[in-house]
Amino acid sequence: PGAMTSRVAELVGDQAEEWDRRGRLPLELVRELAGRGMLCAQVPARYGGPGLTAADGGAFTAGVGRLCSSLRSLMTSQGMAAWTIEKLGGAAQRAAHLPELAGGRLAAVAFSEPGAGSDLSAIDTRIRAEGGTVVVDGRKVWITGAAYADLLVVFGRFGDGFAAVLVPASAPGVRVERVPDPLGCRAAGHADVHLDSVRLPADSVLERTAGSAELLVTPPLTYGRLSVAWGCVGILRACLDEATGHARSRVQFGRPIADHQLVAGHLAEILVGEQVATRTCEHASRCWDAGLPETATAAVLAKHVGAVNAVRGASAAVQVLGSAGARDGRAAARAYRDAKLMEIIEGSSEICRLILARHALTAPA
Ligand code: FAD
Repeated sequence: PGAMTSRVAELVGDQAEEWDRRGRLPLELVRELAGRGMLCAQVPARYGGPGLTAADGGAFTAGVGRLCSSLRSLMTSQGMAAWTIEKLGGAAQRAAHLPELAGGRLAAVAFSEPGAGSDLSAIDTRIRAEGGTVVVDGRKVWITGAAYADLLVVFGRFGDGFAAVLVPASAPGVRVERVPDPLGCRAAGHADVHLDSVRLPADSVLERTAGSAELLVTPPLTYGRLSVAWGCVGILRACLDEATGHARSRVQFGRPIADHQLVAGHLAEILVGEQVATRTCEHASRCWDAGLPETATAAVLAKHVGAVNAVRGASAAVQVLGSAGARDGRAAARAYRDAKLMEIIEGSSEICRLILARHALTAPA
């Protein structure tokens, strides 16, 4: 993962700020990274992917998150799409689609709808079989990376339960509409997706279906939560870099502000947040790599700790920068906006706490 992070760092350079301001990532760069399998680095080598473990994939994700949360968001989506296909697809679907994703085809994952945010049991997109085809109707909102995607992994109602269906973005009846002016991760290509009588081959529906939305979405969400959590570690590291650098060089009252204890307190708070988030991520990734049943809960914990600490850490970093952090152009200001969104996605902080409380109430004493 170290070499992969260095390669991404070379390609990103100091451009993240500019991409954020423009609200666009350069497509050539995204395609280059995707073509090397770096946007879904845990896809196994037998499907043409880099085959990183969750621990190594996490370290790489944190490295990218430290540079650019928009690019990291795309990695989360691409990796989550690949994991959905690996987990819910049949052998032929895995063999057909995973090499494509590891080889550069860009994908996004669509759960959310106008009436189904935290409550995915309210998903109303319909997937229905018709002759040898399936037809998809619905509307998805806020889909990360959808503005760049070639393929959309769409969750919807299917028969008596729920299923995921692979929808090419170019299929007739698909319309992708960018979310204007997002608060953060501005270059991540968030878009609403309209699906009007989209007709697809029957084998576009991933083989594993489920009676409840929760059962179906938990595997992809677990991947997404862990990826977001590592991304938050990256945000915290970026905040630490910038806040410590500024505190060393900015002089007030005759000495570097780092020598003022209240400022030092902010630096310590960011470090504590980064360290605690890192440890919870490492734990969840170890659970994932060992195939343990507690992986899903460990990923919720990591995501929750990561997001809350990133929000606090970014706020502390902006405070240390003072007016220097009070406008676009500084990593801490970008982190401040990006971090807040991490408390909303992949299960908001409230939903994470509900899941953790349920775990506390049901876990054996
Ligand atoms: P709501 O569910 O309406 O919640 C509003 C508030 O009420 C929140 O604070 C929430 O925590 C709280 N709340 C709701 N229910 C409860 C409860 N039972 N108890 C306590 N509090 C509750 N979706 C996708 O499908 N794919 C993507 O790639 C994707 N990317 C996203 C990227 C960004 C930057 C954002 C902002 C959103 C993205 N989403 C995506 C959508 C995201 O998953 C939803 O925004 C999220 O699930 C919350 O849903 P909501 O926005 O409708 O909020």
